[in-house]
Amino acid sequence: MGIKASATCVMNFDGATGWIVDAPNKGLAAMFTMMNYERLGVGIQGLATGERSYQSAVDYARERIQSRAPTGPQAKDKAADPIIVHPDVRRMLLTMKALNEGGRAFSSYVAMQLDTAKFSEDPATRKRAEELVALLTPVAKAFLTDMGLETTIHGQQVFGGHGFIREWGQEQLVRDCRITQIYEGTNGIQALDLVGRKVIGSGGAFYRHFAEEIKAFTDSADSSLAEFVEPLKAAIANLEQMTAELLERAKANPNEIGAASVEYLQVFGYTAYAYMWALMARAALGKQDQDDFYASKLGTARFYFARILPRIHSLTAAVKAGSESLYLLDAAQF
Ligand SMILES: Cc1cc2nc3c(=O)[nH]c(=O)nc-3n(C[C@H](O)[C@H](O)[C@H](O)COP(=O)(O)OP(=O)(O)OC[C@H]3O[C@@H](n4cnc5c(N)ncnc54)[C@H](O)[C@@H]3O)c2cc1C
Repeated sequence: MGIKASATCVMNFDGATGWIVDAPNKGLAAMFTMMNYERLGVGIQGLATGERSYQSAVDYARERIQSRAPTGPQAKDKAADPIIVHPDVRRMLLTMKALNEGGRAFSSYVAMQLDTAKFSEDPATRKRAEELVALLTPVAKAFLTDMGLETTIHGQQVFGGHGFIREWGQEQLVRDCRITQIYEGTNGIQALDLVGRKVIGSGGAFYRHFAEEIKAFTDSADSSLAEFVEPLKAAIANLEQMTAELLERAKANPNEIGAASVEYLQVFGYTAYAYMWALMARAALGKQDQDDFYASKLGTARFYFARILPRIHSLTAAVKAGSESLYLLDAAQF
């Protein structure tokens, strides 16, 4: 479907002999020595396709003329306005920008924890970073790639019919991004890993590192950041309540974990990006009048909190709905 430059194919070794390498049952542990880096790498592959799609879509939206702005003509010297004036095109571009820059910050944050886990000379710091890496790696892999696909599809849509045909490159980005949700462990399996092994498996300890860091940030933030800090606090409180309820339900019914896990991971991802956007807003606030870079950061942070973070409410409702409705049909009734 995509990544055509990768020489991947199916090979069947009929009648071949296999030899075990090293001790039995040690293979999975050996594989996991590289897995955290690999999974973050695949997450960044998804993010990168989204960023490339965004850069082309912005250029196109500035140039392509079609219809007039709802508030009246903007480019009076032209037969029509550039499509970047239309609210829906701005929605698509800003969604892409907010998800890409949130994802870039989050992937750098996880990479920093990987480096700390490997290179810190302090054993307690190393342990905390290792546990954060364990918690956040499945989120980085699955959420960056899910958002990567959403982003490339918005980029394709900005191009209209030119997004579907091959000439402009946008359709290739959609195809190339798709594998990132599947290989290196499907995103469904990443979500099970997050909820089952990392959150429940650590008795909530790994999760607390992350929640405590965010709380320290919200407690120390001054009132000029309230527009970002208040929704971030509410998002963390929502995640905490959702986690506690899920842990309770999972004790009575093992299906509850798998029924909730994908939406749970997404609530986690949007909340993590909200933390990243609050940090970026803190860095930009006060500098927006002198510099377009900071003005753009602040505007995008506002868009993220107004239009993207509220997605957690419908996802939380799905998590809370539990497994019951998934088991109303038997296999023959599908
Ligand atoms: C282009 C390409 C390159 C690849 N490169 C490599 C490589 O270099 N090295 C390598 O080792 N592998 C590679 N793979 C394999 C890849 O990692 C696997 O295809 C992927 O992890 C999914 O496993 P599967 O195909 O066996 O799917 P399955 O395990 O059969 O999964 C099918 C579906 O069922 C779901 N599912 C399975 N088990 C559960 C469960 N317990 N609970 C809930 N849902 C479940 C999955 O999420 C998925 O949606 C590659 C695959 C492709 C397509």
